[in-house]
Amino acid sequence: MQRKQVRQEQGIKAVVVMSGGQDSALCAALAARNHGPERVAAITFRYGQRHSLETKYARFLARRFSLAMHKVVKLDFFDSITSSALLSKNAKIERAGKCPNTVVEGRNAFFLMAAAVWAKSLGADEVWTGVSQTDYSGYPDCRAAFVRAQEKAARLALDFPVKFKAPFLRKTKAQEWALADSMGLLDLIRENTLTCYNGIPGDGCGKCPACILRRKGLEEYLGGAVPSKP
Ligand code: ZN
Repeated sequence: MQRKQVRQEQGIKAVVVMSGGQDSALCAALAARNHGPERVAAITFRYGQRHSLETKYARFLARRFSLAMHKVVKLDFFDSITSSALLSKNAKIERAGKCPNTVVEGRNAFFLMAAAVWAKSLGADEVWTGVSQTDYSGYPDCRAAFVRAQEKAARLALDFPVKFKAPFLRKTKAQEWALADSMGLLDLIRENTLTCYNGIPGDGCGKCPACILRRKGLEEYLGGAVPSKP
């Protein structure tokens, strides 16, 4: 059993940061297409997010894409050092300056570094993330400049030539839906991901900023208004 596990880990090429949302689901599918699912591992973080259902979707998708490994890791210290509407069950979601109050300060910095540490231990030299700066809602850690800087930081911190792959950095949500469709995954991703800040899977509540962005992209891609799926 142990020998099998070691053999499996030796073949891993990429670690995907997977939240259970639309972007990271597509990112995992793309990594699996590029390298073969047997060479892709996914990591999901429990960081105190208000909707733990996300993790359930991440598990489902990792299985659905036949990824070699999926790990759920706790990074649950955020609520003791910062505050965010995403960390609190009852907070009202609103804009606060440049960002919505759903920003979790520094979240992707921790996620990418932790994923890189795991990647090194697996001998995998790629970390994939679904972040996008096109539709980035004002989150500073979704910008290209941050991803490049964090890649450099991880390389130095780990003395390991890890590469950060962020295929949607400059893609819009509409372009992501188009890609999902071209991979035969539009319905799967639409129905089995959770992006809604109110914790409603699939098409979501339709009212929060995440649902509005997702819906706008879908309608832009499909060329018109789309009825919500239950
Ligand atoms: Zn919503």
